[in-house]
Amino acid sequence: MKLASFDDFRIGVVDGDVVYDITPLLPAALDLLPRQRMNWLLGNWDSMSARVAGYRAAAQATPWSATRLLAPNPAPPHIFAAPANYRKHLGELGSRTVTKPGRTAREQGFFLKAPGSLVGAGEAILVPQASSRRFDHESELAVIIGRGGRNIPRANAMEHVFGYTCLIDATMRIEKDVAEEERSMRKSFEGFTPMGPWIVTADEVPDPGQLRNRLWVNGELRQEANTAEMIVGVAELIELVSSVLWLQPGDVIASGTPEGVGPFRAGDELRIEIDSVGAMTIPVRECDARAPRPF
Ligand code: MN
Repeated sequence: MKLASFDDFRIGVVDGDVVYDITPLLPAALDLLPRQRMNWLLGNWDSMSARVAGYRAAAQATPWSATRLLAPNPAPPHIFAAPANYRKHLGELGSRTVTKPGRTAREQGFFLKAPGSLVGAGEAILVPQASSRRFDHESELAVIIGRGGRNIPRANAMEHVFGYTCLIDATMRIEKDVAEEERSMRKSFEGFTPMGPWIVTADEVPDPGQLRNRLWVNGELRQEANTAEMIVGVAELIELVSSVLWLQPGDVIASGTPEGVGPFRAGDELRIEIDSVGAMTIPVRECDARAPRPF
């Protein structure tokens, strides 16, 4: 099953070209907190899944191309992200990376991206106006947590996965000895975390460690890898994060990028595609307003 968020944070099941609006199945109280609908649904999946499975009875079915797709979970409690998690990506950015040589996600742990940087398949990446900085794309498989937990051993970790989605981890690069801002800030500009087009439930992805992950810029293939090349797999990432704090329903874990990381600029179009999960094309625009602090 494919779950999407669309228009004014409505929840839908995508089936072929159509999205069935299942928002009326959710408690009316969530109308006051529409961004929380997906977190609530994932946290109450055991009691809701049978009703959601009857989605074809939903009154409203719309071609999803006629909706505005948002990040499928627009307000996750956290976005955790793995650095340096594909062997061939290690070292390719030279002095523009802050990860120490030879270190991977296993040694470095995770970093955070701001949930406020999320956008969906119907939105855009926004780069700061008139910036001379370099902005890069990173093509990543994202894990959506269903069942929360703390200190989850990797042997049990997959029971905590609700599903998967595509995620572009956009980044403003450091300029060695010139501008070396914190990673969490450089990766948290508005629109710097496109996610979508929907969440595919885990039952439709038999092995998240065997998926082709590709990204194009303006039709040119820039990144192509298989998630089998990940150094720290999905189960170990869940073990790692939950060793630090409680994982919560709706949390996102971005699993890291393969080689081929490269720049994009306003006017470009980024396309990400992951087997069994989906694909989306995201335009890059310059911000309408100039920031009081330039970048
Ligand atoms: Mn990344």
